[in-house]
Amino acid sequence: MSGFHGAKYCWMNGEVKETKDALVSAMEPFHYGIFEGIRAYVEGDILGEGDLNIFRWQAHVDRLRRSAVVCGLGVPYTDEELLEATREIIKLNGYRKTTYIMPRIWPKAEAVRRRGLADDWHVVIPVWEMPTRLEEEAFTRERRYMISSWRRLAPDALPTQAKAWANYANSGLAGREAARLGFDDAIFLDSRGFVSEATGACLMTVRNGKVITPPVTASILESVTRDAFLEFLPEDLGIPVEVKDITRVELYASDEAFACGTGGEVTPITSVDDIRFGDEYPGPITDEIAKHFMKVLGGNVEKRRGWLTPV
Ligand code: PMP
Repeated sequence: MSGFHGAKYCWMNGEVKETKDALVSAMEPFHYGIFEGIRAYVEGDILGEGDLNIFRWQAHVDRLRRSAVVCGLGVPYTDEELLEATREIIKLNGYRKTTYIMPRIWPKAEAVRRRGLADDWHVVIPVWEMPTRLEEEAFTRERRYMISSWRRLAPDALPTQAKAWANYANSGLAGREAARLGFDDAIFLDSRGFVSEATGACLMTVRNGKVITPPVTASILESVTRDAFLEFLPEDLGIPVEVKDITRVELYASDEAFACGTGGEVTPITSVDDIRFGDEYPGPITDEIAKHFMKVLGGNVEKRRGWLTPV
């Protein structure tokens, strides 16, 4: 079995449980929930096997707490308790390759019945092994994206900056449309008509050697990976970055484009609406960024070791 169903153990409400025993009622209001997507990578060579480091643990926990505040939920554990729980569950499952960590919080049915007045939440931390896409074959695979006919949900409709499950109904619609039409994934325009993000990752374009990405106000999730890239591209690689609204035509006219995120890492995009980017695939800047990111994730860039928390 893949995903967290394949993990023998998970952490639930303060205890280690066998995943098969981590059961809740079918009546639980999951749709009010929030979650995080975090990854742990192997020290040294991320394609190998060995001791793991969590990438940007604190930034993810901070976002989890912000999502909780916005969605009227609580996080009834300290950062240290959540970290210890995560470490314990990765070790118990015996994972020594790239691992995905998905803390999730949702109100118990009773809390919702009382309109959120009861502080009673489920906090579950599932983990599972997830191979990196930065491995040669996965990285160089061609990927055709389309502009979705579904707009990215408006920031005054749902909390786009938070990682709320409800937002992913929007991603699900766009993802299914793309699959039905034979594309690999979709890119949303926001409610104003500017480029927003992909269904589960942020978007970065390259034009004349500069990396350009939409602002948080373009209804994107406030991505931890995007934030890291905005810092290390200019500082470590001397690649200029610009955060600005991107029109559909500007996207088409890009030299390169890639999606970035915890799951997506650096995902090169071949074309959007079958308009191809550049002559080379993956583009040279996308390739350079991915190679450096692999070094950062493996702890091989001294300056960026502060982003890694040992399991
Ligand atoms: N946008 C969406 C909709 C996402 O689901 C994700 C993945 N969490 C991202 C962007 C990238 O965010 P991050 O870099 O924090 O994983």
